[in-house]
Amino acid sequence: MEEPTLNEHNKQEYPPMHTTEHILNQTMVRMFGCPRSKNAHIERKKSKCDYLLASCPTAEQIQAVEDKVNEAIAQHLPVTINFMPREEAAIIVDLSKLPEDASPTLRIIKVGNYDACACIGTHVKNTSEIGKFKIISSDYSEGNLRIRFKLIL
Ligand SMILES: [Zn+2]
Repeated sequence: MEEPTLNEHNKQEYPPMHTTEHILNQTMVRMFGCPRSKNAHIERKKSKCDYLLASCPTAEQIQAVEDKVNEAIAQHLPVTINFMPREEAAIIVDLSKLPEDASPTLRIIKVGNYDACACIGTHVKNTSEIGKFKIISSDYSEGNLRIRFKLIL
């Protein structure tokens, strides 16, 4: 099979953190209708993701984000790799970030039925490997929400 090319950077990131990024992105999309994070810094000890939001979320909303991510993790969802044609992938995944020269076959990562996303990175096999998600801080400035988080095993 042809090696799929995607525009996401070559992620050799800590798989539990990177998989959490997928879950957090989906949670933010569901709760706020915002795009997935386009600016993320994922590291083993702590990570950060930026989201475009029209207004500053309340402390309760931030707590709800943390709870929702932990709920998904606690379901011990299987993380699966699916190769599928671009047309098929477009039905379940936002491909607007995909470059023009991306291959016709895409690598789609599914976290249970919670999230689906085109990604070439490394992930855990099950969310049971992630531990507990903890938001360290959230800072809102000029339409940008920065969430810093860590995992507690
Ligand atoms: Zn990924």
